[in-house]
Amino acid sequence: MTAAAVIASKGDALERYEAVIGIEIHCQLKTVSKMFCGCSTEFDGAEPNSHCCPVCLGLPGVLPTINKSAVEWVIATGFAIEATIAQTTRWDRKNYFYPDLPKGYQISQYQLPLAAKGRLTFDTSDGPFTVRINRAHLEEDTGRLIHAELGGRRVSLIDFNRSGMPLMEIVTEPDIRTGEQARRYAEELRLLMRTIGASDAEMENGQMRVEANVSIRLRGREAFGTRVEVKNMNSMRAVERAIAFEIERQAVAIDAGETIHLETRGWDEARQSTYHMRPKEEENDYRYFPEPDLPPLLTSPEWLAQIKARLPELPAAVRTRYQEELGLSAYDATVLVSDAASKALFEQTLAVADGVPAKLIANWVTGECMRLAKGESGSAGQVYPAELAILLKLVGDGAISGTNAKEVLAEHYTSGGRVATIIESRGFHQISDAGTLDTAIDQVLAANPAAVADYKAGKGAAVGFLVGQVMKATRGQANAALVQTALHEHLDKAD
Ligand code: ADP
Ligand code: ZN
Ligand code: MG
Repeated sequence: MTAAAVIASKGDALERYEAVIGIEIHCQLKTVSKMFCGCSTEFDGAEPNSHCCPVCLGLPGVLPTINKSAVEWVIATGFAIEATIAQTTRWDRKNYFYPDLPKGYQISQYQLPLAAKGRLTFDTSDGPFTVRINRAHLEEDTGRLIHAELGGRRVSLIDFNRSGMPLMEIVTEPDIRTGEQARRYAEELRLLMRTIGASDAEMENGQMRVEANVSIRLRGREAFGTRVEVKNMNSMRAVERAIAFEIERQAVAIDAGETIHLETRGWDEARQSTYHMRPKEEENDYRYFPEPDLPPLLTSPEWLAQIKARLPELPAAVRTRYQEELGLSAYDATVLVSDAASKALFEQTLAVADGVPAKLIANWVTGECMRLAKGESGSAGQVYPAELAILLKLVGDGAISGTNAKEVLAEHYTSGGRVATIIESRGFHQISDAGTLDTAIDQVLAANPAAVADYKAGKGAAVGFLVGQVMKATRGQANAALVQTALHEHLDKAD
């Protein structure tokens, strides 16, 4: 086949097949100590194997104790995804042999997860989409293997600092159909984790790990195809790309008469493709059985009520409130809610801004303020809500031009200076006074007879030039909209 023929057959295959996708997400929970021992979870940058004890090293004769706040984070997550919380839950041993798992088993939850049957709704380019969530359960993390070269020999080193870290696993039903939906689901879950405080959920450092189970079937068929599990995506973009790649790969393979095997594949960011890692374990390979060292865990209604009461307002509720009560667009609401710092700046400014429309504040926070915060001006700084409120009050009243206000904001951001002082020192007070504007316009018309003649001859473009001259004469302080209107009046009157 020629390259063009391959591409044509891919496009054709994608129309005939539909993808079925289920997502598994592991999140490191934000606790002070590990899941079953007292070791500190603050080991970033620490010496390897400096945050371990006999429990998280899996030495013989030790007993695990349950980290209560890890359990509470899973329950809180369960409430946030509208799941049913188990009244009684249990721990199970998941047995497998790997050097990063010192006990030879992982303590996890198999038959009775803490939370089950939830869902999450989020926006996509095709509108809102709801994914059913099968379960959210608690388990412990493994150590980390580091493959290196030491004295010319290839060695594998092991760091147990991460061993025993509390991990929450959230598994969806196979409801997702596209890479975009998968990415948006993961983004919404990340936002939810950060909002409730359960996890920092940074993908780059492994606090949040997204795995995608992907299969395809002919459109209109009900039966699922064989799934492939894809790992090692370390950004949201990679999640979307890896799934798109895998859908195409499977379509081409099936069309070529190949069989898809249950396997675990890795995402190669450099090559932008997936590769075979290992055949996938079967469930019964794990020989799950109830953890004999831990009693079942009971969740009393009082405890659950306390956890629920501590939940903050969730992203979906905030977005609805911003639109329905503050009149923001769906887009502004989404952008503000997705970024904790912007959301805080918006709300704090709104709280102290006297009569400034929420829409104006939202525009500036999602526009200029975000641009400054992204460091596009090349310097670090901060916007103070009280100062932004003062500035936007002036913008709303037409007392300063939008262009000048942006300069004031940028200076405030870097210097921390007060808005009033900056406006004063830069002479940015906008001139809206009719008398002052009239004088300036008269002077400009007298000095530019050629442009006036052009206007009379029907060249409307001359007005733009004259507005520019008035702005120049007033050092940019004239209210441009008023100048525009007044100029027309002067020119037409001069007839
Ligand atoms: P495992 O740990 O063996 O991967 P889980 O039950 O934890 O099993 O996760 C399986 C994931 O795969 C779930 O998200 C589920 O929705 C999804 N899934 C199951 N069957 C298919 C399929 N045929 N195609 C795509 N995804 C599937
Ligand atoms: Zn320990
Ligand atoms: Mg899996």
